[in-house]
Amino acid sequence: MDFPNDVKDLIIIGGGPAGLTAGLYAVRDMLNVVLLEELAPGGQIAKTAVVENYPGFPEPVNGFELVNKVTTQAKNQGLVIDTARVLKLEFEEKSPIKTVITDKDQYRALSVIIATGARYRKLGIPGEKEFHGRGVSYCATCDGMFFRGKDIAAVGGGDTALKESLFLSRFVNKLTLIHRRDRLRGERKLQERLLSQPNVEVMWNSVLNEITGGEAVEELEVKNLVSNESSRIPVKGVFMFVGLIPNTEFLKEQLELTDRGYIVTDQAMGTSQNGVFAVGDARHKLLRQMVTACGEGATAAHAARLYVERLKGESYT
Ligand code: NAP
Repeated sequence: MDFPNDVKDLIIIGGGPAGLTAGLYAVRDMLNVVLLEELAPGGQIAKTAVVENYPGFPEPVNGFELVNKVTTQAKNQGLVIDTARVLKLEFEEKSPIKTVITDKDQYRALSVIIATGARYRKLGIPGEKEFHGRGVSYCATCDGMFFRGKDIAAVGGGDTALKESLFLSRFVNKLTLIHRRDRLRGERKLQERLLSQPNVEVMWNSVLNEITGGEAVEELEVKNLVSNESSRIPVKGVFMFVGLIPNTEFLKEQLELTDRGYIVTDQAMGTSQNGVFAVGDARHKLLRQMVTACGEGATAAHAARLYVERLKGESYT
């Protein structure tokens, strides 16, 4: 089947490791592809200070540098990246052509890979919004340097909380990790390393209830869920590492999502819509890592190629 010239083979939405790897594989498969990214390519990993578990890098590597290499690699091989914020996808019942509506242009394509990732969850407690940027932060790499030699706190018990707290513990005076349970969720090795830092203390079974201060953060009110007692701890800053919210709001009516908003896919990254694939942190899955994101990107690009070839009648599989 022939399609109008403006119809691309593939549009990739999102320029984190998953989208970039999909782009790299797609250009190498000679697909006519454009990657749409709202800001600069990189995704969440670009805000990670140290990556130690990405294969092929025996020494710790900065997340921004690592993903920058993937961007350069994909661009060098011909990937076109346009800056645009995707607002909506439109599907037609009788045509395989999908329309991607952005804040700038509309794109038409036979297949789409969604790689929009996830953003930091907020706690929603008093003081969090008011002191954001004045002691409340979600990014150790971005703001850690402001707290050199100071006492700070962090909230959470997952990989992000452990990794970023370890990074912060290198230059703050003291870090208090506030965690709502009596055990941590993140990688065991990171747990061991963090708990052995002399300037790190964990407040177990505890929740942060309120952040107070004047010009900037001064004090936290923390409640112990076992004793029901509240205490106040003086800090200059508090980092929230309490998980992710998938960036899938624009897909709500169009694709099958879990009740937490993650995109449901099959083993070839196919979604509930033919020719639409999803990869990376926005996808419902077990392990959110750069290495899984890249693998999913490669799989989805390959699946998109097979889908497009079938539509065009070029399939030889
Ligand atoms: P996560 O694994 O979902 O952990 C979120 C943490 O915040 C959990 O410890 C959770 O407590 C806590 N939490 C959630 N809501 C809370 C609330 N309202 N109040 C207090 N605490 C709350 O999120 P993440 O650490 O951001 O990681 C997201 C994904 O990225 C994970 O799959 C993770 O493995 C991956 N990741 C991997 C790396 C790596 O390099 N290995 C680095 C960063 C992230 P509970 O434990 O009690 O649920």
